[in-house]
Amino acid sequence: MIDLRTAPRVADARGVPWTESLDDAVRGALGRGEQVILLLNRRGFATYLQCPSCGDVRDCPQCAIALTVHQTPPALRCHYCGHEEPIPTTCRVCGKATQRMRGLGTQQLEHFTALRFPEARIARMDLDTTSTKWAHHRILERVAQGKVDILLGTQMIAKGLDFPNVTVVGVVDADTGLHLPDFRAAERTFQLVAQVAGRAGRGPKGGRVYVQTRAPEHHAIRAAAAHSVAEFAVHELPLRAPPNPSYPPWVGLVRFVAAHEDAIAAQEAAERVAAWLARANAERLGGALTVLGPAPCPIERLKGRWRWHVLVKASEPRALGRVVRAWGARARAVVVVDRDPVTLL
Ligand SMILES: [Zn+2]
Ligand SMILES: [Zn+2]
Repeated sequence: MIDLRTAPRVADARGVPWTESLDDAVRGALGRGEQVILLLNRRGFATYLQCPSCGDVRDCPQCAIALTVHQTPPALRCHYCGHEEPIPTTCRVCGKATQRMRGLGTQQLEHFTALRFPEARIARMDLDTTSTKWAHHRILERVAQGKVDILLGTQMIAKGLDFPNVTVVGVVDADTGLHLPDFRAAERTFQLVAQVAGRAGRGPKGGRVYVQTRAPEHHAIRAAAAHSVAEFAVHELPLRAPPNPSYPPWVGLVRFVAAHEDAIAAQEAAERVAAWLARANAERLGGALTVLGPAPCPIERLKGRWRWHVLVKASEPRALGRVVRAWGARARAVVVVDRDPVTLL
């Protein structure tokens, strides 16, 4: 575990969080003719606010998910309930200046590693480099044949790869996923870090995993380092339970997504859903529902359509079933209903 708040960094890293420890490890492996995997889960769309000295991240007081920095108009906004607050310039915990964090891209990382290790053969694997049918397969074949020294990429490289000559795995920034505006952000981070850690040391030479983070005490990171699902669950489950903002598995969840080429039309459709839900909740469901939003989806625009969502929670699954059925009877093409959504992005 490398604490990005305090660990010495190499000079000239061009915005890449690149510490001396990871640098030494990569250089060592390359020097011995071994291979390196670097994971960077790029999620550049959500900029969050973090204190570089204590690591505190601003989150929504009602939803306990990270607030997103918006430029026009300047504000911190919750993508679940629509809560807004001014962008603070100092940390609420330690008083130091805050910093806007935006996920670094794999392309930027590739560029940096190429400059840093000019003799290394580097392959990048992400959605952009694997869009053709066999690209994915070809990259992995080159790694297996020893024609690649550094394989870097997104979550695609975390699962299932078995290369005995990989002795160093680096998670360049474990926090990009940790502060996604999604209640499963910690769960996904845990899975990803635990999975990619399993890519190191599959051969007789063994291996080491370097996880760079500003939250080394976070339970997702600690449990991943310990490779323990049980440890993760013990800490995560109470955080999703009342009196905190409740999330599955304690409550059921339904998401209504309104998408339209016209931004106003998407917003208005979501507002109509929210109003309809509030009415149904009061008149027929005895207040069994908690309605959040409408708010813009964390991915605000997808395939040319603006997206807004409304989230509905209930501890009583039947209430959700009734809502979904009732909506089905009056459904409109603009709005899609997702029961037990896997993602809220
Ligand atoms: Zn602070
Ligand atoms: Zn909120």
